[in-house]
Amino acid sequence: MFGLTGYTVEEAMKDGWWLSSIDRSDMVLLHDALGRAITGQAATATFRFRRKDDSWIWIRLLLSRHVDRASVPEVIGIWIDVTHERALAEQLAQANKLAQLGEMATGMAHELNQPLAAISLAAENAQREIARLDHPSPRLVRRLDVIVEMAGRASELIDHMRVFGRIGPESSGPVDLAEVVAKAASLISGKLRGTMVQVRTDLSETLPPVLGRTVPLEQVLINLFSNACDAYATLAEADAAREIIVKARVADAMMQVSVADRAGGIPHAVLPQIFQPFFTTKPVGSGTGPGLSISYGIITELGGTIDVCNRDGGVQFIIHLPIAQAP
Ligand code: ADP
Repeated sequence: MFGLTGYTVEEAMKDGWWLSSIDRSDMVLLHDALGRAITGQAATATFRFRRKDDSWIWIRLLLSRHVDRASVPEVIGIWIDVTHERALAEQLAQANKLAQLGEMATGMAHELNQPLAAISLAAENAQREIARLDHPSPRLVRRLDVIVEMAGRASELIDHMRVFGRIGPESSGPVDLAEVVAKAASLISGKLRGTMVQVRTDLSETLPPVLGRTVPLEQVLINLFSNACDAYATLAEADAAREIIVKARVADAMMQVSVADRAGGIPHAVLPQIFQPFFTTKPVGSGTGPGLSISYGIITELGGTIDVCNRDGGVQFIIHLPIAQAP
């Protein structure tokens, strides 16, 4: 029992000790299964359980009723740790969902582009015609300016949606990861300085180049660095070292890049949503750059993967990229 839940046998002897550690939202299902087991039916329930060290695991409970020698009925349960199985199933569901969203985003971007281009063109023509008038109405000029500006903004958003779906036809080539990291850090150096965050790299000089494209990869790192800065900015001033640690190594014939911070992490409930287009927890107008959905699109398009987890009091993104040539 200790290995699975962290509780000792003595602690586990107390009546109902485990019920208080079960995720409340799974309680109904569990009660249901217990009810069925008491009436003699075979029953199973899957629930989240908080271990003694506060980490969560998924348990599948197999229940069946037995009658002991004194004819007292009892329900016996077998606990199976299905955390890994659940994580794989969730990852698969998430990847499918994002792939569908990507297709939808590309389709919508394509459909919206034409009417939007027509709006922009018509408004620009009207601007030109009004400019030729002797006494153009200032209100009309302002309104046309707004139309042109907003059409431009909508077209930027559409470009983002398109990037989420595809990053374009240009082909990939060998890219030096250390250079990409250094360039991304220098492009966002103002924000890093402003939030007193440092990018620390642990990249071996003998790392092989990855197969990718420099600019989109820089975009991905800028996005990750920028989010880490935002997260550090929400912490108290006196907090310990504000660092973003970038590490890379070759694992299973892929380059594994880890970008980690210690800025508090992402709430469990939010984690599954962070790669979705336009998802943000930041106040309106303060979300920066193209967002994680774009990063996801870029990395997938380059034949890699990007995953996120909470670790060491912060967030860790793990990116896998194909290697350009054998080390
Ligand atoms: P935006 O930065 O515009 O909110 P993103 O797609 O880049 O959009 O990020 C989505 C959300 O993911 C953020 O609003 C934030 O809640 C969360 N997030 C991303 N990176 C981190 C991080 N390093 N630490 C804490 N939260 C993060």
